Amino acid sequence: MGWLWGILVVLIAFVAVLAARAAACKPKEETYGPREELAVDAQGAVQRLAQMVRIPTVSDYDEQKVDEAQFEAFRTKLKELYPAVHRVCPPVLCEGKGRVTGLLFRWKGKSSAEPTVLMAHYDVVPVEETRWQHPPFCGEVFNDELWGRGTLDTKITLLGILEAAETLIEQGFVPQQDVYFAFGGDEEVSGHGAKDIIQYLKNQGVKPALVIDEGGAVVDGVFPGVSRPLAVVGIGEKGMMDVVLTAKSEGGHASHPTRPSAVGSMARAVARLEAKPMKAHITKPVREFLRVAAPHTPFGLRMVLANLWCFGGLLCVLAEKLGGEINAMMRTTFAFTMAQGSKQINVMPNEATAGINVRLVNVDTPESVKAYMEKVIDDDNVTVNVRDAQTASPYAVTQGPKWNKLAAAVAHTWQGCLVTPYLMIACSDSRHYAGFCDDVYKFSAMHLSAEQRGLIHNDNERIPVTEVAKTVEFFTRLEKSL
Ligand SMILES: [Zn+2]
Repeated sequence: MGWLWGILVVLIAFVAVLAARAAACKPKEETYGPREELAVDAQGAVQRLAQMVRIPTVSDYDEQKVDEAQFEAFRTKLKELYPAVHRVCPPVLCEGKGRVTGLLFRWKGKSSAEPTVLMAHYDVVPVEETRWQHPPFCGEVFNDELWGRGTLDTKITLLGILEAAETLIEQGFVPQQDVYFAFGGDEEVSGHGAKDIIQYLKNQGVKPALVIDEGGAVVDGVFPGVSRPLAVVGIGEKGMMDVVLTAKSEGGHASHPTRPSAVGSMARAVARLEAKPMKAHITKPVREFLRVAAPHTPFGLRMVLANLWCFGGLLCVLAEKLGGEINAMMRTTFAFTMAQGSKQINVMPNEATAGINVRLVNVDTPESVKAYMEKVIDDDNVTVNVRDAQTASPYAVTQGPKWNKLAAAVAHTWQGCLVTPYLMIACSDSRHYAGFCDDVYKFSAMHLSAEQRGLIHNDNERIPVTEVAKTVEFFTRLEKSL
């Protein structure tokens, strides 16, 4: 009987350790220094954003469809709206392939040793006008929301950056370090505005110490049990690649079908990959996100999150249960987006293809993903072809002065929120800074519900007017600290 008691004692000790760690995992308030009360010209900011929205700077993969005059009108409008910025930081037009692709302002600081780059883009995605409740470029306020394409993505951050700078310049403020405002004009079509700006900076011998671009936001209800808003700041972003699966067969007439058919092999390959997602990992952004979220979760979940040494594996297995976005932060994902067989219903094709958009976490590489796919598909009739592969970005630091400046501006603007690192699961223009700047953060300075976030790239895009003021407030705090 002695051994039974032994096991029981070990078991009790084990549970006691787990419970003690969970109990010790208490919320500890981060302190970000004294908070200054700021007054912003909220109404003026909304009116100026409205004027930006009324200029349809629509990007298109088909260059013929891009109305260059609108882009020029937009840049002229900025001159009119922000005279002090244009006087003190005269902008440079960055060009590529014969067109202006980016706009770069340099706000000279007391030192040029550790410059910051604040990014935004002023192009927008096209609209399906008939599906909008109000005209997509009306720039009008209805029910305390400013309507129009670009209000969220990203004319709002461009406005916030310039509103803050205009006011601070008028007040005679000079930043400690140089600050660059880098505005791309073709982000939505994966253009080269950001690359042209980087090339210009390199030519000038400028190496940014800190870059901030669109990305996370202040969000609610993204993590089970956490009731406080979370300000998720991207410290890196996933990589991306396209994969085409090609299945071959003999083809022929549909009256005497052969097996396996190309369509059958392709479909089986897709089904196998869908059934076997790649392994989940507790990467740095995930670990840090859980560290911030854990103390605010119910005791049962906290037992798991406070004891990742023991439950890390379980958490990886349960990743999908934690929600789509958390799951996507933890593993390389496959989105099956295209499929093609024969062009005619009574003809068997020699070849069937499937398109997969892959988003990589940084433990996987394009080569390792390809090898994984081949192993899971396990079919000599199917080949895996990789196109346009980009690896995941490195991670920015999550402590020290750079992180603290950003986190303080966030916490002081959206009081009561929890500021946390996370991994951005979409792509942004700031990925081009990988290898050029070590600390690139991705944060869209707005508090948005899931429904509001769903309006990005969608019909009826609009922003609450209260959030316009918050964005300006955030950039004012941030710029004052640079
Ligand atoms: Zn966009």
